[in-house]
Amino acid sequence: MPAGVTLAHLRFPVSESRGRRYPELPHPYRSEFQRDRDRIVHARAFRRLEDKTQVFAGGISDHFRNRLTHTIEVSQMARTVAGALGLDEDLTEALALVHDVGHPPFAHAGEEELDRQMKRFGDRFDHNVHALRIVERFEQRYAAFPGLNLTFEVREGIVKHSRDFTSEELPELAEYLPGLKPPLEAQLIDLADEAAYNTADLDDAFRASLITMEDVGCAVPRFAQVREEIETSYPAASEREVFQEVVRRLIDEIVTGLIEGTAGAARDVGSVEEVRRSAERLARFTPAAAALSAQLKGFLKERVYASAAVAVDRDRSAAWIGDLFEHYLAHPDALPPAFAEQARDIPLHRVICDYLAAMTDGYLERTWRQVIR
Ligand code: MG
Repeated sequence: MPAGVTLAHLRFPVSESRGRRYPELPHPYRSEFQRDRDRIVHARAFRRLEDKTQVFAGGISDHFRNRLTHTIEVSQMARTVAGALGLDEDLTEALALVHDVGHPPFAHAGEEELDRQMKRFGDRFDHNVHALRIVERFEQRYAAFPGLNLTFEVREGIVKHSRDFTSEELPELAEYLPGLKPPLEAQLIDLADEAAYNTADLDDAFRASLITMEDVGCAVPRFAQVREEIETSYPAASEREVFQEVVRRLIDEIVTGLIEGTAGAARDVGSVEEVRRSAERLARFTPAAAALSAQLKGFLKERVYASAAVAVDRDRSAAWIGDLFEHYLAHPDALPPAFAEQARDIPLHRVICDYLAAMTDGYLERTWRQVIR
């Protein structure tokens, strides 16, 4: 980043938070965003991330990312970017830690299958809207209020970190300033997520022997270039060491590209209010980092996400979710009492969706074996 460039004037001031739904006294030594971060870390939905698939199902290797370790990587990258830009690191960290808590079991296969089931009832499943329901209602930890009672900015970031929406599109989110962009801290999350998963999935796929360095180098010229530099500097390095060195250099280039791209885009923006009203999001990669990230994503899509090894797990887990959905539609009394009770006020398909979405991979599989098989 060019020396002296800082976006500190665009840092969201914690003193101007719109606050919590249920007012609370300030904490003696933690800011409101630090408290939110701590509440997220202590939430059950956060701990369940440990047994939710990122891309590769557990059991084959102990080294693949799960959704919890992925979340920690996103949080570390996002916090680094926020710090370098002079933005609020605590708000960024809270948003990064919460960004995937709405994910159902079995990664995108689970999300697609739940959405497919919900569409039969003219409804949808969206993991960001689901995350909001978790922090607003399903977490029951405090005597004084339901949910985690997070600040407005963290709740807004949950629903807006990866997309913008209008009040017509999502009327239930009307309080979250539809039509306005979220603060930069929230805008960073989606790109830090992309930086983290594109490089981590490459690493996991290499460890799973799904891809070779030659494969990556053909699709991603920058990978081949850096590989050559590493091999020249360290002729005795093993293949695995070379691969890791290349990946860590690419992470650095993409994260640096996010810092520089955002600094450039937001340099002439005068205030948080202007960030909110700008036509485009201002968090962005430099063109070189964007191209690198897009090439990695394209390669992973073709060679990893669509591979037979990943597809087998995907089809099996989608079938489990479909079976359980059907089962509870036919036998609502088989739901746990707390959920069965909700079905009196909320449509049954929504209750089933909430129940299944909360499950870890392991719990869903165990339930399927008990109930269906
Ligand atoms: Mg993520």
